[in-house]
Amino acid sequence: MSGRPAGRPFWVLVVWYDNLVKHFLVFLAVLGTVFYALSPLAAESAPSPLAAESAPSPLAAEPVPSPLAAEYAVSPAAAEYAPSPLAAKTAPSPLAAEYAASPAAAEPAPSPLAAGGQKTVFWRYTLNRHGNAVLTDPLEVPEGEDPFAFLASQRGFDKWLLSRGKKAFILSEKAVSGEVPVLCFHKIGRQERFALTPERFRRLLRYLKKDGWYMVSDYQYLQGDFSRVPTGLKPIVMGADDGGHNNIEYQVYGDSLTGRIRPFAEGPRMERNCMAYILEKLAPREEGRINFTFYVSFDAIPFRQLGGQRNPGFPYRGISVVEQKIRYLDENFILGIHSLSHEYVYSMGIDAFAEDILRAWEILDDYAGGRAETVRALAFPYGVGEVTADVYRKLSALSRNGRFLAGAFDLDGGCARPPGNLGNRFDVSRINVDNEHWNYAMAMLENADAVKARRDFIWESSSKRLPPSPYRLGAAPSDQVWVLVRPGGG
Ligand SMILES: [Zn+2]
Repeated sequence: MSGRPAGRPFWVLVVWYDNLVKHFLVFLAVLGTVFYALSPLAAESAPSPLAAESAPSPLAAEPVPSPLAAEYAVSPAAAEYAPSPLAAKTAPSPLAAEYAASPAAAEPAPSPLAAGGQKTVFWRYTLNRHGNAVLTDPLEVPEGEDPFAFLASQRGFDKWLLSRGKKAFILSEKAVSGEVPVLCFHKIGRQERFALTPERFRRLLRYLKKDGWYMVSDYQYLQGDFSRVPTGLKPIVMGADDGGHNNIEYQVYGDSLTGRIRPFAEGPRMERNCMAYILEKLAPREEGRINFTFYVSFDAIPFRQLGGQRNPGFPYRGISVVEQKIRYLDENFILGIHSLSHEYVYSMGIDAFAEDILRAWEILDDYAGGRAETVRALAFPYGVGEVTADVYRKLSALSRNGRFLAGAFDLDGGCARPPGNLGNRFDVSRINVDNEHWNYAMAMLENADAVKARRDFIWESSSKRLPPSPYRLGAAPSDQVWVLVRPGGG
C-alpha cells in the first residue's frame, strides 16, 4: 500500500479500479459486437484452421491478378458486384475452404497435366447446400470429339449456335419446334384498322415483360441466334411498317407535320405518345439497342414531319429531320426495308419489285450517312401470300455494300416457325396488331406454343478452377454455367 497517494481513502481506489474493469469489459463487449456485426464471415470461417492455411494457395496460384479473390473471397466487395441473386448467394462463401477441399486443388503440383491428365472435361458450376460455388458432375469429352458439339448433344440441342460472349462462350439452342410470334404494328391511334391506342401499346409492352417474353431482332430470329435470351424466356420479334407519323414524332412549333422542330440542348424531344418514346420507356435495351424494327417505305415523307423544310416530293430525299430520325433509329433501334413505292409485289412484277427494294435500301443508307448498320430484312407491303421460286431467287440475290437480305416478312396473321425449322426465310409469318385485331393478337400470344430459349455459358480454362461470377460472365440466374478444362488450352 505504499504507492497509495496520501490523503486519498482506500475505497476511492477500489471504486476507481472497479470502474476501470467495468469500462474495459463494456469496451470489450462493444468491440466484440461490432466485429461480429461487421464480419459474420470472419467469425464463421475462423474455427477452420484448414481454410486459413490453404486459402492463400489456390488464389495465389491464379495467373491473373485475381478478380476471383475480389469477387468471391471478400464478401463486402462481392456484394457490390452482385445484383444477380445467384451471384449474391455466392458472395458470402468461405470459398477457400470449398476450393481446398476439392481433390484437384489439393493436388500438390498445380500443373494442369498432373491435375486433369490429358482429358477434356466440362465441370458443372453450381451452388452446394451451403450456397457455396462448387464444380460438380464432370462430363468427360470423348477423345477426338468437338467439346461444344458433345455438350450440345448431352443437353439435347438438335441444332445450336456457338457464340463468343464477353468472357465466356455461349451455346444456345436453335429450336426446331415451337413458335415465335412476330408482331406487326403500323401507327399509334384510335382508328380500328392499322392503329393501336397508346394505352394498348403500353399495356402490351408491360404484359410482355410480365409474361416472360424477350424481344429479339428480326435478324437474330432469322439467324436462329437466341444467345442473348436467358434460359426459359420466350423470344418475340416486333416491328412497325410504313414509317408513319407517330412511329417517331418530334415536338415542333405550330403544325405537327410542317412546323419547325423545337430546339433543346440535348436535341429534339419526342412526343410522349409516339411509338419510339413509349418503347424507350417500357422496352428493354440489349447492348444499347431496343430490338424493334422500323420498316420504312418512301411513298410519303418517312415519319411525315418536314421540320419546316420545303417538301422535295417523291422519293423524299434530303429532308434533314428525316435524316435525324433515321440516324437515331439506326443507333437506338433497328431499321428495315418496306419498299420505295409501297406496291404489292405481284402487281409490280418481281423484277420491278426487286429494283424498288434496292432503291429504298439505297435511300435508307444515304440518310444513315452511307450505310444503315441495322438493315437486314424486308417487310412486304400488303404481305406476300405465296413466295414463288422466282421471288425467292430475286430477293436472296439482292445485295448492297456486300450485304444480302437475311429474309422477308409476310402479314398473314400466324405465328412464325422456330428458327431451326424456318422453312422459307423470305416468307415469315407476322401477326397484325391493331385495335380491330387486339383481342385476336393477345389470344395468339397467350395460346402460342412459344419457343423457350435454352443456353449454357462455357468458361474455358487450362485447369480446374472457379470462373468469375455468373453475373460477370453475362449469365442469368436461369442459365447453366460450365467450366471447360482443356489441358494445355484455354
Ligand atoms: Zn405497309
